[in-house]
Amino acid sequence: MQVTTSVEGRALEMRVDGGRLWASLMDLAAIGATAKGGVCRLALTELDRQGRDLFVRWAEQAGCTVRVDGIGNIFARRAGTDPGRPAVMTGSHIDTQPTGGKFDGNYGVLAGLEVIRTLDAAGIQTRAPIEVVVWTNEEGSRFTPVMMGSGVHVGAFTLAHALAQTDAEGVSVQQALQAIGYAGLAPAGPANAAGAYFEAHIEQGPVLENHGKVVGVVTAALGQRWYNVRLTGMEAHAGPTPMELRKDALLVAGRLIAEVNRIATTRAPHARGTVGSLQVFPNSRNVIPGQVTMSVDLRAPDDAQLLAMDQDLRAACERFAHEAGIAIAVEQVVSFPPQPFAPPLVESIRAHANDLGYSAMDVVSGAGHDAVYLARVAPTAMIFVPCADGISHNEIEAAEPEHLEAGCNVLLRAMLAAAEVQA
Ligand SMILES: [Zn+2]
Repeated sequence: MQVTTSVEGRALEMRVDGGRLWASLMDLAAIGATAKGGVCRLALTELDRQGRDLFVRWAEQAGCTVRVDGIGNIFARRAGTDPGRPAVMTGSHIDTQPTGGKFDGNYGVLAGLEVIRTLDAAGIQTRAPIEVVVWTNEEGSRFTPVMMGSGVHVGAFTLAHALAQTDAEGVSVQQALQAIGYAGLAPAGPANAAGAYFEAHIEQGPVLENHGKVVGVVTAALGQRWYNVRLTGMEAHAGPTPMELRKDALLVAGRLIAEVNRIATTRAPHARGTVGSLQVFPNSRNVIPGQVTMSVDLRAPDDAQLLAMDQDLRAACERFAHEAGIAIAVEQVVSFPPQPFAPPLVESIRAHANDLGYSAMDVVSGAGHDAVYLARVAPTAMIFVPCADGISHNEIEAAEPEHLEAGCNVLLRAMLAAAEVQA
């Protein structure tokens, strides 16, 4: 049996305060609370300012030094004993969708704050600094692109580009940041890269709940390819045109929808294929559809699988076009590469979840998160906890206090392992 020093022993016994975490989540959710129990706190609005101010107050009360960068990202830093070490960072976002919930994003930020409060209460110091970050405009509801603050942080696009974006009323990101007092002076960009980045988040899907698991060990974020597919046949009268002489674009679109489904279901469990939008021309009851434009969304956890799905889609389009005597054009409009998370951090999360006695399973992230950008500049991993019925981006979004506490305990352990306890 290994003998541990008293500080290390105390660090192992330390647990987060689930009640305090829950109370903070509810306090933050009161800002922008909706009648149906959700939250509407769009990025860089007056309500966002109030939410940010509350976080900053809490972070300063916990002894953190707070800085804000040029895109409004908030960094709350708990000093380490070794100033030369890069920070071990965690965070997420507190902006919401117009009909958002209490937990999406907010959980990751407040779980990070709870880690700091727990360290303070136990009197534990770490060698590396610990930072909790609030990333600006993750949701992309008021301003596009999504994941704006983390995107600037990793250099996915420039600060100037982000600041110039405008909302539906013509208000720019720069104006909105100045209006709420969060146009910060700290340099925005990848210069202050973290030693490690963790993000705790509700799953926003049904997998953990279906398997009865409490902690999701996120191994990767799915790569995404989005397409516009245009099928061009021939409009003709629905009565006089015999079945064998038609060039019905919608009929072929129907086959293609089933094929997109097959392309993903034959690559279970992680591949996804979705047709979510169709425009039919001329969209008239008694005209054979001459043209259809449809969206295709393909997702997979690795490059090889995503490429094979792309090839299957294109081959099916060629085959169907040939068989039906119509034209099908495939245009790829968006591409995000699959993002594997750092294996040592993933393993750390898995080991600590097991050590703490939580039921855990490996999962992939099907949605985008700030962590997906952070993984480009720092070793990164995510922790998922279940949300009721897998529902998110909805006012009825719900999560169990003990699940949130469990994910936060795993976060605490994984961050301590990365930051190292000062003996
Ligand atoms: Zn989120």
